[in-house]
Amino acid sequence: MNQRGIYIKTPQELEIMREAGRINALALEATKALVRPGVTTLDLDAAAAEVIRKHGAKPAFLGVPGAYPYPATITASINDELVHGIPSKRKLVEGDIVSIDCGTIFEGFVGDSAYTMGVGEISPEAQRLIAVTEMALKIGIDKLRAGNRTGDVGAAIQEYIEEQEGLFLTREYTGHGVGRAMWEGPQVPNYGIKGRGIPLRVGMTIALEPMVLLGTAQTRVLPDQWTVASKDGSLTAHFEHSVAITENGPLILTSL
Ligand code: MG
Ligand code: MG
Repeated sequence: MNQRGIYIKTPQELEIMREAGRINALALEATKALVRPGVTTLDLDAAAAEVIRKHGAKPAFLGVPGAYPYPATITASINDELVHGIPSKRKLVEGDIVSIDCGTIFEGFVGDSAYTMGVGEISPEAQRLIAVTEMALKIGIDKLRAGNRTGDVGAAIQEYIEEQEGLFLTREYTGHGVGRAMWEGPQVPNYGIKGRGIPLRVGMTIALEPMVLLGTAQTRVLPDQWTVASKDGSLTAHFEHSVAITENGPLILTSL
């Protein structure tokens, strides 16, 4: 580890992280398959937990310290809720959009990934928000290359979301290194200045996660002390992949 908390992974460690990421992707797929009106976010949580357990892995979010230990396997954030929503008996309804984030620990390494999807028929503006947020993740991943800096990644996401699309990015939550811990160095903000920030190197593994809001960049924490929502109640979306920086460019670890 260097002084910034950055761990360079060996090829063997990257293989384990690929497996952690694959199991995490299977858990997320299990939740996606259930998303429909009438399903509770606790149902989605149970589905993800079952997949993780079946593969001999552990949920990474369960017990994360906060105001109180995080109580679930996934986070499920509905509509204006951006991240860290706690699964509950709340039923999804037609027209909602739901963001599911999940972390898996396999053989000591973490995979961390998230997606947003619509419940049944959703509004054109919700569709656009989801599509644009997923595209922002793709644009950011393409910048995860040795020789670039964290500012190149953030600047590309910021330029696309704020300048091209006229939407908003929170400044309060960022992407991050991922490995034996869910949060390692470096921080990778979804905004920045080209050529600035931490240099990216082969063997670094980054959880990149654009968090996009329709109406404002401001967020608030709900009374449950975990859920982060948009301050103005506008819709939000979140996509995330854990990605390794290799000699051949970015390698997504949390896909199937
Ligand atoms: Mg995550
Ligand atoms: Mg993350």
